[in-house]
Amino acid sequence: MSRRRKARSSRKNRQASGENAQQQLINILRQPNQHPMAVVDSAAVHLAKTSRRHRLGLPRDAKSLLCRKCWSAHSLPGRVRVRVHAGQAVMTCLVCHSIRRVGGGPKHHRTQPENGGDINE
Ligand SMILES: [Zn+2]
Repeated sequence: MSRRRKARSSRKNRQASGENAQQQLINILRQPNQHPMAVVDSAAVHLAKTSRRHRLGLPRDAKSLLCRKCWSAHSLPGRVRVRVHAGQAVMTCLVCHSIRRVGGGPKHHRTQPENGGDINE
């Protein structure tokens, strides 16, 4: 009886500690100027790894902070190219050249390339 209660609370604690770790790593990634480059890069790797280990998604505002493919920190200068194409933000990782398209909503909402367009999220 007490065993079961203990297991439940520890599971909750694990999720809380995972979210706590995520927040600390996100804070490092948000302020890349205040840390050495190696620290920022390893924070990106650890954020990807701990998020998977704890089965947590990345918070919405932290999704663009790292490359989902090569886990490099995108908050460092010169790591990512962002272009707007057909109403979508197209983010190209300059380390592994993977492409991520964000925003724009469903396909029939997207503007045609000749009209230009801005991101509507
Ligand atoms: Zn990459």
